[in-house]
Amino acid sequence: INNGVWERHVGVFAFPFASHPKHLLNLAQRLASAAPTVVFSFFNTAKSNRALFSELNCDNIRPYDVSDGIPKDYSFVGKHPEDMISLFLTVAEEEYRRAVKLAEEDIGLRISCLVGDAFLWFSSQIAEDMNIPWVSYRTGGTCSLSAHFYTDLIREKSAEDKGLRGPDNEVADLIPGLSTIRLGDLPVGVLFGNLESPFAVMLHKMGRSLPKATAVAINSFQELDTELTKDLSSKFKNFLNVGPSHLISKRKPSSKIDEFSCISWLDTQKPRSVAYISFGTMCKLSPDELVALAETLEDTKTPFLWSLKNDSMKHLPDGFLERTSANGMGKVVAWAPQVQVLDHFSISVFVTHGGWNSVLESIGAGVPMICRPFFGDQQINTWMVERVWGIGVRIEGGNFTKDVSRCALEQILSLNESSKKRKERIEALKELANKAVGPNGSSTRNFETLVDVVTSATL
Ligand code: UDP
Repeated sequence: INNGVWERHVGVFAFPFASHPKHLLNLAQRLASAAPTVVFSFFNTAKSNRALFSELNCDNIRPYDVSDGIPKDYSFVGKHPEDMISLFLTVAEEEYRRAVKLAEEDIGLRISCLVGDAFLWFSSQIAEDMNIPWVSYRTGGTCSLSAHFYTDLIREKSAEDKGLRGPDNEVADLIPGLSTIRLGDLPVGVLFGNLESPFAVMLHKMGRSLPKATAVAINSFQELDTELTKDLSSKFKNFLNVGPSHLISKRKPSSKIDEFSCISWLDTQKPRSVAYISFGTMCKLSPDELVALAETLEDTKTPFLWSLKNDSMKHLPDGFLERTSANGMGKVVAWAPQVQVLDHFSISVFVTHGGWNSVLESIGAGVPMICRPFFGDQQINTWMVERVWGIGVRIEGGNFTKDVSRCALEQILSLNESSKKRKERIEALKELANKAVGPNGSSTRNFETLVDVVTSATL
């Protein structure tokens, strides 16, 4: 207990959507436990703070609320998540500035370093005005970060060369450190899609802001992307791979209970037999795709654990739930403890949307993937999984049909040479990931540098 006498005060800016606040808080917790004499103010929307801090009891992390920018009588009917992001972004900079002043008065100490979600590019200006260092934290992968950093270059090259326009073109040396990329797999808003949308503009500004940071930290490990890391290390002041974070927090007992008893069900299954299916916290299959995938699982008698949102359950084929639970072949749940599930001996394949955390968690467990990307960075992550790291396959044509699902399952589950190679490669990456977060591992050392940057800043 510090008795309220803090040596330093650090501000942490969360981007209050999807799993971003959880990741920023996870980083803040790591920093707070490495630097117990430093107090961390955590800036986030009230709703998100309430959810996060109801379970957290950490003396040196204090929540401060910022407005979500939603007008009082706002109608949510027909609105997209991106509309919420736009509303938030119109008030965000002003709100973080206001809340910083409040936290400084409250704690009685000036903030000496800002750590912010990389999406919040304007944190760089706030830190500059406060004359303090700024650390940008990226919750996604190095591949997409690099695409955002090189957005101007990619657009210039594409404007000069007509060959660089079709989404199906595979282009060499477009992104330094990445030998080839299929243009359609660049994150949405880099070359295709609405380049003027608030989200695309935010990512573009993020890419441009990174060289101003005292450090850019990322939830990955440098051995995964050696060349990309080398290139970005020459562009940013301190490019620090400090993950995979789930391998670090996994050592502590998990607070999330397995409310649907997934693990005890998996215990009854044969080794390396079960397909785990989840498309993250936001993506949903169309009813047609859902039926195609479900029917394929039944036809091929593939045991499965499926994390499926309640509102999608009604689209499953008639009697599917009853039949597959009665014969012990499958289990459908609204939520699964994914990290523990992927680590279970019974899991053979992960059918995923290619979200960064899912990819990293699959690598950390050595489970090959079948990817069905939807949007954002999921395409470029899928490109890396299939074509660069060779640890999974992308479903053909972009959507599940019965043929496509069967073919993908066969590719991963068969005992042929390419399937064995895939498993060997992901096992090797699993080992590197675990080494990186172990004693004297690269991520452990990078984290020490990050702690130095965050705590040794002078006012
Ligand atoms: N997750 C989980 N159980 C589920 C579904 C998802 O624990 O049933 C977790 C998963 O472990 C991962 C996160 O939710 O950490 C999803 O993050 P990701 O970046 O893969 O996708 P997003 O939800 O951001 O699209």
